[in-house]
Amino acid sequence: MKEEIFNQQIEAAQQRLHELWQRTRESPSLPDPQETLTMEALQELSTALEELQVATEELQQRNEQLAIAHETVKAERQRYQELFEFAPDGYLVTNTLGIIQEANRTAAALLNRSQNSLIGKPMAIFVTKEDRKTFRDILTELNHFPQLHDWEVRLQPSKGQPPFPAALNVAAIRDRSSNLIGLRWLLRDITERHQQAEQTRKALEQEKELSNLKSRFIRAASHEFRTPLTIISMSAELLERYKHKLSDVQKDSHFQKIRIASKQMARLLNDILLLDKTEAGKLEINPIPLDLVEFSRELVEELQVSIGSQHAITFIHQGQCSNAYLDKKLLRQIIDHLLSNAIKYSPRGGKVHFELICQDRQAIFQIQDEGIGIPKEDQLRLFERFHRGRNVGTISGTGLGLTIVKECVDLHDGAIAIKSEVGSGTTFTVKLPLNQLNQK
Ligand code: ATP
Ligand code: MG
Repeated sequence: MKEEIFNQQIEAAQQRLHELWQRTRESPSLPDPQETLTMEALQELSTALEELQVATEELQQRNEQLAIAHETVKAERQRYQELFEFAPDGYLVTNTLGIIQEANRTAAALLNRSQNSLIGKPMAIFVTKEDRKTFRDILTELNHFPQLHDWEVRLQPSKGQPPFPAALNVAAIRDRSSNLIGLRWLLRDITERHQQAEQTRKALEQEKELSNLKSRFIRAASHEFRTPLTIISMSAELLERYKHKLSDVQKDSHFQKIRIASKQMARLLNDILLLDKTEAGKLEINPIPLDLVEFSRELVEELQVSIGSQHAITFIHQGQCSNAYLDKKLLRQIIDHLLSNAIKYSPRGGKVHFELICQDRQAIFQIQDEGIGIPKEDQLRLFERFHRGRNVGTISGTGLGLTIVKECVDLHDGAIAIKSEVGSGTTFTVKLPLNQLNQK
């Protein structure tokens, strides 16, 4: 607009100059030399005006170009602002001391604050206490070398909110002379990345554990099968080869050995199948009315027959135990394994006490021996598959019995406790709710 007025003024001046020049030429009053001088002056003035006009046009053109450039910059800035504002990742701009100067929406959402309230706050206050020192060290370093790629830190949004893992990337902001004037931070919530990594780690661990278990199982089972198999094959061979020379008592002894060994194998197979069932979540509880005294006595007698006179099991009971409602098969597993252990880990002639108490709607089974005992370090891990005490020496076993016991106790919503002293003996106490159905 200004340029147009200026142009019009120039044109008007040129017009008036032209008229003046015409009039001067036509005027008869002026003497000759003076007329020439005036004409020359007017000519110069006219040239100067023309040059002025060209210069004005050039200026005008440059102004237009400048205006276009200005518009482009404005649009660019607007675009950057929108990208910054609506970026899916969190962006913060801080000065070199880490004081926040700009924050986009995602950053505000991540830190659970409004964008405005973030301005002027030191970024360090959003870093968890544990990571804050490292953050400050990194900030100092950024002032010398302003670049950071995927640094993992735990960010703490406003108080009361749980911290979350974030990856930080930093780029430098510089002025025209390349001086560092600020830092642009990219904040990315990597909770999901962490969870996925954790899941993969767990899956790998489980796989490793499973393959470990498999090989331990194969080792234990083959070892445990070998002993009874050797006994069976030796006794069978002796019976076959010397059947005419052996006395009836000797023959009976071999038959008994074969019977015990095959029972041992059947038991082991049974344990394996049972564990397989528990792992598949297929072991179920089927309670039936049960007279616990009768049930326990039968079990003790059965065991006493199979172990002979090497150990004496005493059984006593207290309270009203005839109307229990428990799973017979599972209960058999519990008592059988505990009594077998008590016998197995006691020296010859060692006494085993089995006490049954029914009180306060609970059945308490207490099995006590005077055997080798269990070291403290092993006591906590006894219910893990294959775990065996370090003091078992040459006593055979797979370390599966107590795992089964625990599963069966858990299915009854019961509890199991151990009291043991190395060299003095062990007491296992199992407590099961008596009338399960009535209680539930
Ligand atoms: P199995 O699978 O044949 O029963 P195991 O007897 O070794 O083998 P568990 O019954 O699970 O396995 O017992 C685990 C470990 O606990 C035993 O190896 C032993 O170290 C210890 N233990 C269990 N009961 C007793 C006990 N009464 N006295 C001493 N140690 C015991
Ligand atoms: Mg055992």
